[in-house]
Amino acid sequence: MLTRREFIKLCLGAGAGFSLGSTVLPRLAEAITALERRPPVIWLEVQTCTGNFLSFLNTLNPRLQELIFEIIDLRYGNTMMAAEGEQAIRALEDVARDARGEYILVVDGAVPTKDGGIYGAIGHHPDGRLFTDLEAVETLGPGARYVVAAGSCAAFGGPYAANPNPTGAKPVSMVLDRQVINVPGCPIHPDWLVATLSHLLLYGVPDLDPYNRPTMIYGDTVHDNCPRRQYFENSIFAAHPGDSGCTYKIGCKGPVTFTDCPTRQWSGEHLSWPVEANTPCIGCVAPEFPDGMEPFFEQLPDVKLPGVTVTARTAAAVAGIVTAGGIGAHLVGSVLTGRLARNWVGKTETTKTNPGTGPGGEEKTLSKREARKDASWRGRRRPAGKLARGKDRNHHERVQSEREGEKE
Ligand code: SF4
Ligand code: SF4
Repeated sequence: MLTRREFIKLCLGAGAGFSLGSTVLPRLAEAITALERRPPVIWLEVQTCTGNFLSFLNTLNPRLQELIFEIIDLRYGNTMMAAEGEQAIRALEDVARDARGEYILVVDGAVPTKDGGIYGAIGHHPDGRLFTDLEAVETLGPGARYVVAAGSCAAFGGPYAANPNPTGAKPVSMVLDRQVINVPGCPIHPDWLVATLSHLLLYGVPDLDPYNRPTMIYGDTVHDNCPRRQYFENSIFAAHPGDSGCTYKIGCKGPVTFTDCPTRQWSGEHLSWPVEANTPCIGCVAPEFPDGMEPFFEQLPDVKLPGVTVTARTAAAVAGIVTAGGIGAHLVGSVLTGRLARNWVGKTETTKTNPGTGPGGEEKTLSKREARKDASWRGRRRPAGKLARGKDRNHHERVQSEREGEKE
């Protein structure tokens, strides 16, 4: 049996090659065989564009068929199921009654709460009353073994809760008085959900950050692992989307966004990600997305740290000095990778969002791994990573010499 530690290592280390197929899948099958029946899952779409479900369909390893026919027992999912109308509602009521305490509730979308929740409904009751999204979440949440909020809308409100939020959209955690595991993304990467569900089935609730996101996925910032990091440190910035170079000055939110896009890449085939396509990360997994991440194509605003205010502009300038003089890496390193990301303006400040087993909103103490990473910033540049391997390095050198040529 794959140990939990090995599983986490696989999630963290496999990066773009993350594959449940050859390693985890047989273990999952073993664990599932030991159960009386496959774990029932309800995929409840509430106020959503269905983007998360469509993204989830792109899972390739395991493939969707393997997932829903061999691993889980998808009992309700209105985009996938053949039943509709009364039949569909009956199927939902059946699983809620027969599998109480067993089923995993995956909620996709924000929950409209204004005016009694009339702005979103999954159907009608037999007597004709609306079966609202709000009622569905409130009814199904307490009986679930686990509740997973899939996508940024379910996890934090997302675009549906953006100002002026006409439907009173709320994240699932604000509707239910229980632990909700948040797996944000706009849309969600299929691996993020597959890894979370696998962890739940094999080992129970994974380690969670203060926003109840699994740390095996949301532990590092995009900036931490970005292959354009050397551009950032060398002050080689893109002036427009489509340009090569670090996209920081055209709005990249990577320094304050915690997830693994640079190493995992999108989607089921793990082919590319926004920065690789010369466009900034817009911070879609962050709790304040989208309002707090706008304007998407403008440089990060001022950043408030305890006792000191550092503007992102200053940080970028310091990055230039660091490169030129080899000093001050500690400031940029600790600011951009750690405290800044955890204490960014306004509502991004570390707060406890859900009751449950996750850390309780306290300032996070650096783990040994994080401390080593922080120390690695002091006095020396980050290892170039992908930049040191092939075309990206050549590309980087070419851009640098072009810029130098321009200066001359
Ligand atoms: S600011 Fe964005 S593009 Fe630049 S190194 Fe950081 S994550 Fe990469
Ligand atoms: S790169 Fe940024 S905006 Fe794009 S999916 Fe990853 S976290 Fe979201």
